Amino acid sequence: MNVVIIGGGIAGIAAAYCLSNDGHKVAVYEKLKKSNWGGLAYLLENEEIKMFKKIGLDDELYAIANPIDTQNKLNTQGKVIETAKNSRAVCIPRNELLKIFISHLNKNIIKYGKSFAAFKFDPHHNITHACFSDNTHYAGDVFIAADGINSPVRRLLIGSQPFSPVRMQEVINVIPLSKIKNHGFCLNEAVKFMSDEGGLAVGVAPTRNSIIWYIQFDVQKYQILNGQAKSIHEFSLDVTRLWDKRIKNLIEHTDFSSSYIVNNVYVKNISKLHYHNLAFCGESAHKFLTLVNVGVGEAIGDALIVKRLLHKCDDKLNNIPTNVFKDYDKGRIGALLKQYNKNKDSLNKFLQPLKVAYGK
Ligand SMILES: Cc1cc2nc3c(=O)[nH]c(=O)nc-3n(C[C@H](O)[C@H](O)[C@H](O)COP(=O)(O)OP(=O)(O)OC[C@H]3O[C@@H](n4cnc5c(N)ncnc54)[C@H](O)[C@@H]3O)c2cc1C
Repeated sequence: MNVVIIGGGIAGIAAAYCLSNDGHKVAVYEKLKKSNWGGLAYLLENEEIKMFKKIGLDDELYAIANPIDTQNKLNTQGKVIETAKNSRAVCIPRNELLKIFISHLNKNIIKYGKSFAAFKFDPHHNITHACFSDNTHYAGDVFIAADGINSPVRRLLIGSQPFSPVRMQEVINVIPLSKIKNHGFCLNEAVKFMSDEGGLAVGVAPTRNSIIWYIQFDVQKYQILNGQAKSIHEFSLDVTRLWDKRIKNLIEHTDFSSSYIVNNVYVKNISKLHYHNLAFCGESAHKFLTLVNVGVGEAIGDALIVKRLLHKCDDKLNNIPTNVFKDYDKGRIGALLKQYNKNKDSLNKFLQPLKVAYGK
């Protein structure tokens, strides 16, 4: 089948990998120019790693990513509250993760600098072509929208989904290891310092060439003045003033102009995950997971179901693409709701004082 994928983030690239492995002709259209295409890094835990195993990329992931054997929760002074050993988690920069998938794709499958603009339809509302702002258009049998949280495709086909804010925001920072010599953290350990009162935590997770560190905070108790580097810097110093001195060291070595503020959001009702012969994958499908921590695994989960549905459709030649995704919503929504509830529990735990959350 001829598959047109809009968006070249993890969801689009994972779908391209899974579908081209199954013999489909795939093309990915990504809005950004190749040089702008990068991003931060991911801490992938057991559930996400299982998804990589399912698609046969776990060995490659372990070969490139930094293994995180131990995950510790600490109090603000660095005393361990909870420990998870042999975690089999990894930490990996986004562009390196994308490269693992891309190394298996045919050259030129990804077209950069292609911003989706519109569709052409047949009389039965099936999509026939995706059109881009440079006046090009491409025909497909089926289409995948993997164009992220603000999905222009979703807005066009289904309408915008009202998001509800989550009571947690995050600031994520990266320090190249070349810029910080004595950071005092073990390279195979991820740690999270938690405030006694709850609603504030600092996490640290090393990749092979950088330290990723982040502040998670309850937006009802803490606010960053604005998104400028100076405000983020002052906020970071302010909320961690009396904490373990390794955090002050991280702050001193951080270029806050590259910080990323995550506004966690969710949607109360999961709406449609498909439209005729188009399936939504990744954040365009389900930005309702409350926290950003599992998006990669869920994006692979989407790709695997899409692959199964297209495979079934190939088996029955009389099955027209209109119906191809009719079981997609049913196949995904149960798993996504499970994840949503899990994330809601961790969010509630995060907001509680330590002695309530950890019974100490
Ligand atoms: C800071 C941060 C940290 C995260 N950390 C983790 C983590 O530790 N673990 C984890 O599992 N998940 C994490 N996530 C979530 C994870 O990144 C996503 O859920 C996952 O990558 C799936 O994203 P996506 O491909 O759906 O969307 P995106 O990564 O947003 O990709 C969408 C792509 O579509 C493109 N696009 C947008 N509009 C158009 C258009 N009009 N035409 C063509 N292309 C378009 C965009 O340029 C982009 O490349 C994190 C997310 C963020 C923001």
